[in-house]
Amino acid sequence: MVLNTVKEADVKGKRVLIRVDFNVPVKDGKVTDNTRIKAALPTIEYLLNEGAKLIVVSHFGRPKGKKSEEFSMKPIRAEFEKLLGKKVKLAGDVIGPEVEKEAENLKEGEVLLLENARFYPEEEKNDAEFAKKLASLADIYVNDAFGTAHRAHATTEGVSHYLPSYAGFLIEKEVKYMAPLLENPEHPFVAIIGGSKVSSKITVLESLLNTCDVICIGGGMAYTFLKVLGHKIGKSLYEEDYIETAKNFLESAKKKGVKVILPVDHIGAKEFKEDAERICIDGVDIPDDVMGMDIGPKTVELINDELKSAKSVVWNGPMGVFEFSSFSKGTEDVAKALADSSAISVVGGGDSVAAINKFGLADKISHVSTGGGASLEFLEGKTLPGIKALEK
Ligand code: ADP
Ligand code: MG
Repeated sequence: MVLNTVKEADVKGKRVLIRVDFNVPVKDGKVTDNTRIKAALPTIEYLLNEGAKLIVVSHFGRPKGKKSEEFSMKPIRAEFEKLLGKKVKLAGDVIGPEVEKEAENLKEGEVLLLENARFYPEEEKNDAEFAKKLASLADIYVNDAFGTAHRAHATTEGVSHYLPSYAGFLIEKEVKYMAPLLENPEHPFVAIIGGSKVSSKITVLESLLNTCDVICIGGGMAYTFLKVLGHKIGKSLYEEDYIETAKNFLESAKKKGVKVILPVDHIGAKEFKEDAERICIDGVDIPDDVMGMDIGPKTVELINDELKSAKSVVWNGPMGVFEFSSFSKGTEDVAKALADSSAISVVGGGDSVAAINKFGLADKISHVSTGGGASLEFLEGKTLPGIKALEK
């Protein structure tokens, strides 16, 4: 997968429409977490230094296709301007004659932020006329919003049909780390997959069977697999509808020679509560009145052993209920082992990334993906419309 990247574009004096992910949390008119805005700055600053006239577009929240003060980009403009250290003008709309005039009047190095793209239902419908109007504002299109690249919307895909299109640095980095995992990973390639449900991760598990040497399964989804193998799982999470799927997965792993590691011990609780008593279960079987909340130390050791020799690792989904401090140790220990490993490490998934950040280990991971849903779909081997639009 080879993308057109922003460095190849000649942007001097050109109007550049850049799609970013400024969908940040806002409370009482203030941005409470500016991580996503900061993440887009390298591409934005690069374009401005190169003499582009910049038009920035993003979605924000769910205004349901209607203009509303609640979902205006106003608070985001203020934070963006502060971080960029440069005046940012907020357009009164996303498309239309007023915006066209403002775009035309832009000078080199100036920034115009469009209003919330989702003020128009045409955005999510990927309406061609809407995309054409957006495209008419600019000469060049740059996408740096990986988090929405799995959606074919007007600002993520539609506009690319009408403008020369390039990947920003964020998307470039995502693809640089993720594409090899699908195409030609360095072996041994170990996957650590967890999270709550088999149903949400089965497609990625099946896809990983084609590339991985070892798949470690933890989190709530592990118990359905353990049940298939005839173990007692007590009150643990269990998806009856996925018994056949889980069975088939284990069989095809065997056929393909992929080693599957499932929990061999657990930390359990009698109730799903933050302050529930921690019950150590030193074996695979879980008593009837207990639910598995985290993987145990022996399981951590098994995963750690695989990580020692791994050359590439992908992690998606926490090993336990890491939000509860009593049940976060398995996730934390695996995160630490990954941070210590010399393998190329990629972490994707909203909660897994939150866990890595919570433990302060993000800078020890080769690549922490900025897109939850998008990174999962990428690993499933699906074509992401927003990425496809940028391919050479
Ligand atoms: P990601 O966002 O990284 O893809 P998921 O959304 O699939 O991960 O799963 C994360 C959720 O799984 C967390 O909220 C976590 O509490 C939950 N979880 C992990 N292990 C268990 C378990 N043993 N029982 C119940 N929930 C679990
Ligand atoms: Mg999640």
